[in-house]
Amino acid sequence: MSTTNKGGCLCGAVRFELEADFKSFFLCYCSRCQKGTGADHAANLFTKSTAFTWLSGEQAVKTYLYPGTRHRRSFCQHCGSALPVVEEGLGFIMVPAGCLETPVPIKPTARIFVAEQADWSRDLSEVPSFDAFPT
Ligand SMILES: [Zn+2]
Ligand SMILES: [Zn+2]
Repeated sequence: MSTTNKGGCLCGAVRFELEADFKSFFLCYCSRCQKGTGADHAANLFTKSTAFTWLSGEQAVKTYLYPGTRHRRSFCQHCGSALPVVEEGLGFIMVPAGCLETPVPIKPTARIFVAEQADWSRDLSEVPSFDAFPT
């Protein structure tokens, strides 16, 4: 089902909106996503939608293509936040879940590249949780 999704970056320079029927929501544990996010995985939604609009700050959006691959990531040049990859001819739009400000309409559909998952991020069920920074 198609939904209207809105989002933006941390500093607020970049804002966007898209109509999308997300089919895939991948948690990617590959070594490139570890570098790009600084975390153990990226969380990206995929859609074939073409109804995408940059509401503000499009000129602040930079897209990095890892040489010799199709691995891309877009980010705000001011605050570094992950942003959608929207490129003519790519055939899909990739939306990092964390940049959406409307509810993410689907649950993750798969974990991918788990062979490259960082050892420290495996078996975390015993790690304590806190509602905020522990004091
Ligand atoms: Zn920003
Ligand atoms: Zn990855």
